[in-house]
Amino acid sequence: MTPQAVVIAGAGQGGLQAAISLRQHGFAGSVTLIGAEPGLPYLRPPLSKAYLLDGNAEALTIRPESFFASKNVAHLPETRVEQIDRAAREVRLSGPGGGRNLPYDHLILATGTRNLRPPVDGLDCACDLRTLRDAAVLRDRLTKRQRIAVIGGGFIGLEFAAVARKLGHDVSVIEAASRLMARAVSPLMSGHFAALHRDLGTKLHLGQPAVGVDGDGVTLVDGTRIPASFVLLAAGVRPNTELAEDACLETGNGITVDANLRTSDPAISALGDCASYPDPRTGRHIRLESVQAATDHARLIAARIAKGDMAEYAALPWFWSDQGDQKLQIAGYAGPDATEEEVAEGIVARFDTRGLVAVETVNNARVHMKARRLLEKGGLADIDAMVDAIIAA
Ligand SMILES: Cc1cc2nc3c(=O)[nH]c(=O)nc-3n(C[C@H](O)[C@H](O)[C@H](O)COP(=O)(O)OP(=O)(O)OC[C@H]3O[C@@H](n4cnc5c(N)ncnc54)[C@H](O)[C@@H]3O)c2cc1C
Repeated sequence: MTPQAVVIAGAGQGGLQAAISLRQHGFAGSVTLIGAEPGLPYLRPPLSKAYLLDGNAEALTIRPESFFASKNVAHLPETRVEQIDRAAREVRLSGPGGGRNLPYDHLILATGTRNLRPPVDGLDCACDLRTLRDAAVLRDRLTKRQRIAVIGGGFIGLEFAAVARKLGHDVSVIEAASRLMARAVSPLMSGHFAALHRDLGTKLHLGQPAVGVDGDGVTLVDGTRIPASFVLLAAGVRPNTELAEDACLETGNGITVDANLRTSDPAISALGDCASYPDPRTGRHIRLESVQAATDHARLIAARIAKGDMAEYAALPWFWSDQGDQKLQIAGYAGPDATEEEVAEGIVARFDTRGLVAVETVNNARVHMKARRLLEKGGLADIDAMVDAIIAA
């Protein structure tokens, strides 16, 4: 039976997309989108890129206020889902109007992630970059020349570092792993971006975890002091799984969902950054932090709720990161055991035992798009055939 009342916990990229897609699929029941943050749902990717330079918050809005009235979607900002009562099929809310219960036929958990806080003394004085509010604080701090230390050499830390260098600040990046973006890209691509950031004038401290932060900078594990007038913490995230855990839903590295993106309670789905789903290629559970995953998850869940479409999730992952004048694009997903092969300058192919799994490119949208199409068809085991298909063609 089609549910009549859908409640979405989390009004970020995926939560809003679920509301949009439900209406696009003709869902006629009630849709309530509950978000802990103030204001309209917004795009996060520009927070570490264009927004730091232009400060244009309006450009981040995904749908205008009029969308919610015209599509009859109830949006409750500054409101938190505090608890799920699965037996009664209702959620407990807290917000401007006080506490209240809201019933659901289907609940979508789209609660995203929050910043990981590694065991570093004095982290309370570090800044975060997760929300529009965080980005506004950072932008304000960038108006006068600073010595900045960034803890974390992942996408967000490096994007921020590139912008801060462009604005003329003195920037150091501290990364516990021996290479940049180690979880997401091949060693070759890490090396390429290390060279880029050094060329931009950023000091890189690799293989050296930070152990302390204070008003004057950061101390590394070997005692090295990195002087800084402010510190950005960008050391990764952790999924917001507490609601699901308290409701005794299955969780691991995220809220565990099946190939239809249903949690261990079929009346509850989960999507995006907070969801751990089976990789269609290997069956292993993975959790991706990307706009693509959040929006594609949302579309699949909405089609199931609105039309009973039971398609399994099989979308090809893709990701991008803008650092300085370089756009890194990744088509596909490579696990930690993948091998790499440099195909040409700025193009790296990654393989596992089943063949090609991902293609990384720099400033090469044409090859990225071809790689996506190739991988969607199932990839190719042979490097020569792959080169013929995506480069020579
Ligand atoms: C600075 C930055 C740069 C990024 N750059 C890129 C990029 O270049 N490319 C890319 O693909 N991705 C990028 N990402 C990641 C991308 O933004 C996320 O993958 C995407 O937003 C995930 O969508 P989501 O809906 O799962 O979670 P989110 O968009 O994070 O939304 C989750 C929302 O749920 C709310 N929430 C949590 N708990 C509750 C609760 N109990 N009740 C109510 N609300 C709750 C949160 O406040 C939040 O607003 C970036 C992220 C950041 C922070």
